[in-house]
Amino acid sequence: MYRRINQKIRKELEEIVGRRNMIFESDMILDYSHDEFSLPEIARDPEVVVKPCKVEEVAAILCLANQKIIPVTPRGGATGLCGGCVPSEGGIVVSLENMNRVLEIDENNQMAVVEAGVRLMDFYKAVEEAGFFFPPHPGDESAMIGGLIATNAGGSRAVKYGVFRNYVKGLEVVLASGEIINLGGRIMKNSTGYNLMNLIIGSEGTLGIVTKAVINLLPQPPFIRSLIIPFDELEKAIESVPLMGKEKILPMAVEFVPREVIQITEKYLKKKWPSMEGQTYLLVILDASSEEEMDKLSETIAEICMDREALDVYVADTQKKQEEILEIRSMIYEAIKDHTLEILDIVVPRAEIPLHVKKVYEVSRKFDIWLPTFGHAADGNVHTHIMKARFENGEIHPVPEAEWREKIDYVRRELYKDCKKRGGVISGEHGIGLVKKPFLSFVLGEKQIELMKGLKRVFDPRNILNPGKIFD
Ligand SMILES: Cc1cc2nc3c(=O)[nH]c(=O)nc-3n(C[C@H](O)[C@H](O)[C@H](O)COP(=O)(O)OP(=O)(O)OC[C@H]3O[C@@H](n4cnc5c(N)ncnc54)[C@H](O)[C@@H]3O)c2cc1C
Repeated sequence: MYRRINQKIRKELEEIVGRRNMIFESDMILDYSHDEFSLPEIARDPEVVVKPCKVEEVAAILCLANQKIIPVTPRGGATGLCGGCVPSEGGIVVSLENMNRVLEIDENNQMAVVEAGVRLMDFYKAVEEAGFFFPPHPGDESAMIGGLIATNAGGSRAVKYGVFRNYVKGLEVVLASGEIINLGGRIMKNSTGYNLMNLIIGSEGTLGIVTKAVINLLPQPPFIRSLIIPFDELEKAIESVPLMGKEKILPMAVEFVPREVIQITEKYLKKKWPSMEGQTYLLVILDASSEEEMDKLSETIAEICMDREALDVYVADTQKKQEEILEIRSMIYEAIKDHTLEILDIVVPRAEIPLHVKKVYEVSRKFDIWLPTFGHAADGNVHTHIMKARFENGEIHPVPEAEWREKIDYVRRELYKDCKKRGGVISGEHGIGLVKKPFLSFVLGEKQIELMKGLKRVFDPRNILNPGKIFD
């Protein structure tokens, strides 16, 4: 149904972006065939990669692709975990990597104006240099603004400060037809018709290509402190979290992490976590406007946790100590990556986390598969890792493919069923992409999916934009 890219079309693309911003050599194109999802069977080479430098070029590419009916897959940093930027129908990959300028930090409006290819690490740098704070903190800082918006990325600070959607105020978007639209702007409120901007956020490149964004910024919090709290039992650790809310404390982040993955990451990084005790940890990050307030918050949390049988409370109050802790936490992925098949992204009501994690342990025993599980305790987002290895006597032991292959789907199904039973959804922040597509109907009703498909037809009647993602 889709047209292949012939010499004539390639020439037309070259006229739009220039030869040096095109890739079609098979050895180089391979890099654009996958994201961070591990299994190679979902990968596919595009026929061509184009790297536009301005919005007019993106518009011209889409106009051409729409006329000729060629699939187009937008691509950011390719840090996605569900195959979202994989060109599963071939065709053109539009990589936003050349549109990488922070255009303005507008101090009067406390907003940043950025191109879609700005990497998160560069965005933080620009924002911090201007004395502002951008709270969402997804784990991989090489992700790009366009991809982060297209997945409505979250991260550990979501419980207090929300996710990407809460900060995006304006978008420049190129539609499948090649038309350019501007949604929202440097405005804090907007009740003017349907909110198309919020429809684009989280649409995974299926409704339009984001080329520019206006992002709201906050003042930097004066004091930040991290607490590491070891427990013997996960249940006790997680039970402590709602008790913080009862005391009217809203931490910036509360993560739960099992000892085993900390041990592996300590070895990988040759760095030490502040505690050797217990089987599971809460990592609580607090912000406050004064040292007195910070001390009071820390003391109350320590009391709550000690009442729930915490073994100790370690305080990291210097920037260096906090950075070391965060480094270990954020490098868990790298430390176990070679043995990870898939990272689930289930979100359940916060109070359901202990029961859901209990189910994970049960499934792990039933299928005899290692499922290290950690995540954002305060917002209900649980990342269960489906592994192709065992963890025994402090060491990782790879398992042959014949043993893990057929178990993956059973694990997904059992955990997605449990998530539905608890009123959760199958993705809290990573998106659906290709990998979770077969499970969308587990949690969304027929009518909802039908409405989504209808919207897709309105935005993209020829189905050229990231086809085959979210639903067929
Ligand atoms: C170590 C690690 C930790 C992570 N931690 C978190 C976390 O804490 N929270 C979280 O939310 N995610 C996390 N992720 C997942 C990932 O970083 C996010 O999904 C991120 O938003 C993807 O951005 P990207 O630029 O890499 O997008 P890509 O992977 O390139 O693309 C993702 C999707 O967005 C679409 N897209 C990309 N650019 C555009 C554009 N300009 N316009 C329209 N559509 C576009 C693609 O087509 C695709 O569907 C993590 C991933 C890793 C590897």
